[in-house]
Amino acid sequence: METILVLVHADDSGAALTKASLETVTAGIDLAAQLVASLTIGIVSADANAVAAAVASAGARLLAVSGHDFLQPRYSTDAAACEALCRAANPSIVLAPQSARFARVAAAVAFRVGGFIDTHIASVSAGPSIEATRWFYRQRVEATITRDGRPWFLLLDPGIHNAFAGEPAPASVEQITVDLPQLRTTVLGIRAPKQNAHGNGDASSLHTWETIRPEANLLFVAGAGWTKKQPDGQTHTSEAADLILGFLHASSASLGSSKSLVDQGGDGQPVLPFLTHMNQIGQTGATPRHAKGLSTCCHGEEPHVVGWRFIADRRAISLDPNCGWTRGKADVVYIANAFEVMAELNKQLEAAKT
Ligand SMILES: Cc1cc2nc3c(=O)[nH]c(=O)nc-3n(C[C@H](O)[C@H](O)[C@H](O)COP(=O)(O)OP(=O)(O)OC[C@H]3O[C@@H](n4cnc5c(N)ncnc54)[C@H](O)[C@@H]3O)c2cc1C
Repeated sequence: METILVLVHADDSGAALTKASLETVTAGIDLAAQLVASLTIGIVSADANAVAAAVASAGARLLAVSGHDFLQPRYSTDAAACEALCRAANPSIVLAPQSARFARVAAAVAFRVGGFIDTHIASVSAGPSIEATRWFYRQRVEATITRDGRPWFLLLDPGIHNAFAGEPAPASVEQITVDLPQLRTTVLGIRAPKQNAHGNGDASSLHTWETIRPEANLLFVAGAGWTKKQPDGQTHTSEAADLILGFLHASSASLGSSKSLVDQGGDGQPVLPFLTHMNQIGQTGATPRHAKGLSTCCHGEEPHVVGWRFIADRRAISLDPNCGWTRGKADVVYIANAFEVMAELNKQLEAAKT
């Protein structure tokens, strides 16, 4: 009989569980139902009572390691907390979010409790045995993993399950005490780039990291066509920058790019100043998860489109009716001039706002 422990942690504020943690709770509930197994949720947070209400209706036993030492991510305290929760729950399966905080300590915790670990898990299901899947070779090969060894730790990639959204309720939390080693690391705070900044529509006001918005509903991809000669024989790079930034401003989309476009900076060709390789989508770039994607002025070649593996609704605007998108890579392709389409779209979005 399997017993499941879901490890969760609070966000930087300490006042709520992270979205990835709540997604892992959903995965734990699903797996427990399939296995008819007991479910325990182990919380790592400065104040577990403050965050436990969000998962009280999950119907699980709630364990927590709390205190000021667990407010900030730190290897020694997080590893000790997770180890203590594992020893208290004695699970055969441990599910945890593949967050920076838990990814750093999970392998060590598995080792300390004599367990096994697999990371970047995309799904877990129970048949005759428990099966987990993960992608290899830039999402081209999907592997199904089974293991007899227990406890089996599975780190779940974010964005795959719905975040648990049960009604907050009073929670009964069992506090687990932890013997901490001597702490050598003092966390002074977190310096992180601003997320979800929209700039003021001026190319120089927006930094790359402000254009990458993993939580956005829409991925907007700019391809090299934006800086190529247009039907009038001229390039229109600054107009392209205005149209792209105007769209980001109006839609709050995340900005991706083809490799060709971001490579142009190194080639001394006209570039869009807010784009770097961090925006690159594809085989040698990122594979983000957004509900929708709109590709513009991009040819849709395989090394680029493989980065769209997890985009559910794919659309493209291209001048070329023979581009990769039209050859089965997109759900909808508009054979049109992206300069004209985006100008009209921005106009309509602005009108809708006012
Ligand atoms: C090992 C390897 C790894 C790679 N990894 C990646 C990767 O991770 N990501 C990636 O993106 N690429 C990658 N590539 C490169 C990839 O194969 C393509 O070369 C690249 O994606 C092409 O970029 P593009 O479509 O923006 O540019 P182009 O091929 O130049 O296409 C531009 C498109 O814009 C269209 N266009 C021009 N003007 C307009 C307009 N006004 N309106 C509408 N459409 C217009 C043109 O018709 C054309 O189709 C890799 C290649 C290799 C060999």
